[in-house]
Parts: sequence; structure tokens; C-alpha cells
Amino acid sequence: MGKADGFLTYGRELPAARDPKERINDSNEIYTSFPEEKTKIQAARCMDCGVPFCHSGCPLGNMIPDFNDAVYDGEWERAAQILYSTNNFPEFTGRICPAPCESSCVLSINKPAVAIEHIEKAIAEKSFELGLVKPQPPTHRTGKRVAIVGSGPAGLAAAAQLNQAGHEVHIYEKDDKAGGLLRYGIPDFKLEKWTIDRRLAILEEEGIHFHLNKEIGKDTTLKKLHRKYDAVLLTIGSAKPRPLTIPGNHLKGIHFAMDYLTLHNRRVAGEIIPAEQDIHAKEKHVLVIGGGDTGSDCVGTANRQFAMSITQLQYRNMPSTARTPDNPWPETPMTFTASSSHEEGCERSWGWLTKEFVADENGFVKGLKVVELEWKNSREYTEKPGSERVLPCDLAFIAIGYERPMYDAFQANFDFETDQRGNFKLQDWQTNVPGIFAAGDAYRGQSLVVWAISDGREAARAIDVHLMGKSKLPAKEVSMLLLANEKQV
Ligand SMILES: Cc1cc2nc3c(=O)[nH]c(=O)nc-3n(C[C@H](O)[C@H](O)[C@H](O)COP(=O)(O)OP(=O)(O)OC[C@H]3O[C@@H](n4cnc5c(N)ncnc54)[C@H](O)[C@@H]3O)c2cc1C
Ligand code: SF4
Repeated sequence: MGKADGFLTYGRELPAARDPKERINDSNEIYTSFPEEKTKIQAARCMDCGVPFCHSGCPLGNMIPDFNDAVYDGEWERAAQILYSTNNFPEFTGRICPAPCESSCVLSINKPAVAIEHIEKAIAEKSFELGLVKPQPPTHRTGKRVAIVGSGPAGLAAAAQLNQAGHEVHIYEKDDKAGGLLRYGIPDFKLEKWTIDRRLAILEEEGIHFHLNKEIGKDTTLKKLHRKYDAVLLTIGSAKPRPLTIPGNHLKGIHFAMDYLTLHNRRVAGEIIPAEQDIHAKEKHVLVIGGGDTGSDCVGTANRQFAMSITQLQYRNMPSTARTPDNPWPETPMTFTASSSHEEGCERSWGWLTKEFVADENGFVKGLKVVELEWKNSREYTEKPGSERVLPCDLAFIAIGYERPMYDAFQANFDFETDQRGNFKLQDWQTNVPGIFAAGDAYRGQSLVVWAISDGREAARAIDVHLMGKSKLPAKEVSMLLLANEKQV
């Protein structure tokens, strides 16, 4: 523990965000730089708890008090070793993780949590700056070959682990660039794409093979991969959008959120979007239907395209601003939050049910009929009499979630078992088809980057055991045990 009374002496401080009025003119990340000395002070706030609840809050089991201690001491190499031992890509999670570790931080019981996510990003960037993150090809090869379908964070994390174990790893990706939702879902103002390219260059130098523009089920079959490789891992995400089944949902100007976000990410990457394919919010009344990261990212994107107005509709009532008795620490707080995109300008309307889209004479959407809800409890509601109204709408983005992975093209050859929600059903990360594994959103449903990395690591270990009968790749529980042993020594 760096400074025994650090949590009493210092308050929580984070890098400042750029002025919303300024930052909507570009697509760069919104946070300014933060002096190293200040990051050390933030690390000093960690109490090195006997039972560090932050560990159980983090899906990766990151050894948070240990890296906080190293940062306070200015020992960046030690901090990096600790962080990379559980997390392949802290440069991503340090930027976009909602930080469940902070919600479960013991300090957050009565004070603002330790700035864990910021410290993670600082370690990640410092380790690149100091040249500590170098390609580390494996010292031996096993002769086994693994195909990974999908290059999102789950696929990349699994690839990194399997390659370290000595297997020959081939990633098949249907898009023209690797990264999955990191690249074509999450906007640049949250995650600039050079961070992905920097990581991909290292993975390639370590010997991982990337096959881009290769859609499995279209350009080649899963059956062929299954025959050709010793194991196959499906990390294809959960991309089937949930439709809004109300009258008028076919009108022009109504789009799934991901279609909009992907186009804008491509535009920011320098691509020319043909006019007939483009979806642009300039001078339009925009309605975003649904909360969550996807909805919030549509708000931030529409602000950068100078929409006339942006309204985000949510079906539920506005959550309370503080924890309620049925949602105590260390659970994830189900409280009101405003993202950086909301701060840039957006009307948030809570407790509205969408009824019907209204068309103009050319078949374009011109309005959305909504009615206010009165919630009796968390499940039951009634419509408030006389509250029906039509909101102006030139462009609507549907962001009400995702149904399941897009595996339809595989099902003719493999009758994959799925769970109640339509995600792959797994036993030790293996599907019902021997030799075919799955991980990430394809198994969990649309979730978080940190869970995708965790699943990728766990699935890699299961594949290694499947191929070799044993594995030296770290298991989450083992990392925690190692930590406990280290502390005893
Ligand atoms: C708009 C948006 C914003 C988000 N913001 C955040 C955030 O701020 N923080 C956070 O933690 N999480 C966020 N998430 C969630 C997070 O991005 C996902 O949980 C995570 O990316 C899942 O990783 P994955 O590797 O399982 O799948 P994905 O990232 O979805 O990657 C799947 C990959 O598989 C490829 N693929 C699919 N089918 C095939 C096929 N047949 N052949 C070849 N390739 C195929 C796809 O093209 C894709 O590249 C966000 C999600 C969205 C949609
Ligand atoms: S719970 Fe918070 S204060 Fe305790 S060890 Fe973890 S980061 Fe430090």
C-alpha cells in the first residue's frame, strides 16, 4: 500500500473532458491529458483492502490494489506486468469500460471510488511509451492449428492467448478491418481507432494470421474450417438487432442504430460514403429509441453531424440518482447516469411507449406517436389517458438491443444448441459440436468489452486443454490464488 492515509488526504480527480461545444466539431477522444504525478495521487487513494471487492467486480479479476501500489511508487514496469497478467488489452478497457470494479470499490461505500479505470489507461499508455509492449512470439510451436471466426475483443483475446500457447492461429473476419464492435460500433470519440491498429500490428508480428473480408458461411463454409483446423472458435458477436414492431417501422428514415454508427465510423476513417447509402443527421429532428451504450453513441454521433434536435426515448422511468435499498453496494448501481454524449446535448424522455411512426406523402417518417406510461411496479404499467402525442421525427434510430448471434448460415450443417435467448449453449466453452467453441457476445448476448476479453481468455484455455490435455495458460481462479500466495510470502 503506497500511502496509508491517501484515501483521507486526496479526493478523486479525473482528466478533464474537452468543452462539449468544442469537441462536437471533431471525432477525437474527449479527455485531455493528465500529469503523471496526479495519477500517482489517484493510486494513493487505494486502501489495499484485506478483501479487495474491486477484484470480484472486475470480470477479468484484475489485481487492482497491486497495480495501484506500483503506480504510486512510480514502478510502471511492475504495474504493467501486473495489469497484463490478467488483461490483454487494457488500452481498450481503460478507455471504454463502465468500470464495474469502481462500483464495487470499498471506498465507494461513502466516498468516490478509486479512479481505477483511469489508472488502467495510464498504465497501458505508459507501457507503450516506455517500449514495454513488444511483440512476443511464442518460443515453441505445437503444430496445432486453430481458426477463430470474428475479430472483436473476444476473438483477439483468444487469439493472443492461443498463440502464446504455441498454436497456429488464423482469424477469419467478414469486415475489411479487424476489431469487431471496437472498430465499427464504438465511435472514435470514445475509442480512437489507432489504438486498435497499434494492437493489431503487435498481434500480427507475434504470428497471428488475419484473413479479412472472409465471411464464414458465405465466402467459405464452417464445415471446411472444422475439417481443416484442430479447433474452431466462434466469436461472431450478437449482431441481430431487436426490431421495433410498431406500425410504420418500414418507413424511410428509420434505421437500426448499428447501420448508422458503422457508416459514421467508416466516414471518420476516411471512406467516402455513397449518397444513396448514407444516413446523416444534419439539420434533422432525430429520435433515438432505447438507452444503453448504442443509443448514447447515436446521440454523440448525431451531435457531431449537427442535428436540429435529438431526443432519446426510454420506456422505463428515470432511475433514482442514488442507490436504492434493493440495490446495495457492491452491486452494479442501477442509478441515473449521463454519458459524455448526453452532456453534449440531448433531451432525454423517460417513461414513453412508442405506438406508431407517422409518414409524410413521400413515404418518409415525419413523426412518432408516443404515450406516457405509469409504472405500477418494475413489470406492470398502464398508459396515461390523454398523454398521447406525436413527436417530430425525420430520422429514427432503433437501439433497443440485440436478439442473438448471426449463425443462420451455419445451422444447415451444424445443428447448434442454443440457450433460451438464442445464444450458443456451451459446456466448458465448447458447443454441442465437438471441436467448435464459442465466446464473447455470441455466448453471453450483447455485453461489455471486458467480458468479451475475459471470455476469449477462458475459451482459449479450454481449447488448449482440448488440444494438449493440459494448459499453462492462466485461469482466472489461478491468478487470484497466485496473488494470495504472493501476499503470504
Ligand atoms: C454501439 C455500441 C457501443 C458499445 N459501447 C461499449 C462501451 O462503451 N463499453 C463496453 O465495454 N462495451 C460496449 N459495447 C459492447 C461491446 O462492444 C461488445 O460487448 C464487444 O465488442 C463484444 O465482443 P465480441 O468479440 O464478442 O463481438 P464483436 O465485437 O461483435 O465482434 C464480432 C466480430 O465477428 C465478425 N463476424 C460475425 N459473423 C462472422 C462470420 N460469419 N464470418 C466472419 N466474421 C464474422 C464481425 O464482423 C465482428 O467483427 C458496445 C456495443 C455497441 C453495439
Ligand atoms: S476495493 Fe477500492 S480501495 Fe479497496 S483495494 Fe480495491 S481499489 Fe483499492
